[in-house]
Amino acid sequence: MSEPSTLLLEHHLKALKLPTFLRDYKSMAAACAQERSDYPAYLLQLAERELIDRERRAAERRIRDARFPVLKTLETFDFAAQPSINAALVRELIGHGEYMMKRENVLLVGNPGTGKTHLATALGFAACGQGKKVRFATTTALVTELLEARESRSLARLQKQLERLDLLILDELGYVPFSKSGAELLFDVISRAYERTSLIVTTNLPFENWTEVLGSERLTGAMLDRLTHRVHILEANGASYRLKDAKKRIKRP
Ligand code: ADP
Ligand code: MG
Repeated sequence: MSEPSTLLLEHHLKALKLPTFLRDYKSMAAACAQERSDYPAYLLQLAERELIDRERRAAERRIRDARFPVLKTLETFDFAAQPSINAALVRELIGHGEYMMKRENVLLVGNPGTGKTHLATALGFAACGQGKKVRFATTTALVTELLEARESRSLARLQKQLERLDLLILDELGYVPFSKSGAELLFDVISRAYERTSLIVTTNLPFENWTEVLGSERLTGAMLDRLTHRVHILEANGASYRLKDAKKRIKRP
């Protein structure tokens, strides 16, 4: 191909946002010439590569947008170390992400260090790979974000963003009590998510103690009602993995 047409082609491929075509069209042409592939076969191979790359980039973007504090996956979770967790249910949830299609929620309840955040992150990470829009936040940080958004008159925008999610992960509900308006804003998020966005909530608090952090009994009741309407509950009652890990390290200096 002449130099001007090569330049023009590369310009068009950029304009069309086909980076993989741009990167591979020459080497692929050489390979196809050698294999005596016809034009459609050449085009097909390039298009397939472009599609695969695009999907990978989109998944990477979804993972960035989810803002996981640390990336954890199911591969690094040791179910033997935490036998109280229903491994079959975790695998079922993570497998096809069907719970998100059905707008079901997941509640992870248990003592500190039992892997709740790890599992919530692993579920969120898998969801990103399944094409879902995910957001991870500690409950306290989200409530602060909501209060600040209201202060700066951008609450409606933040609420819209949250509504567009397929999965919202609220980590560590129950560690810090909320102000009255904080609890109300959180309730509002959970209400809007109802039958639209799946929620994963991790908490160290048994249900009967939720009023302590949310303040009002009526609000707690209404929140639990929405959260638990369609819910999978995972309980972790074992010892803290952090503690076990630390003890192991002490024993083997
Ligand atoms: P929680 O949120 O319940 O307090 P985390 O998920 O933060 O606990 O777990 C604490 C640390 O221990 C994390 O680094 C986590 O990856 C690790 N961890 C906890 N349970 C397990 C487990 N069963 N297998 C592997 N790592 C674990
Ligand atoms: Mg945690």
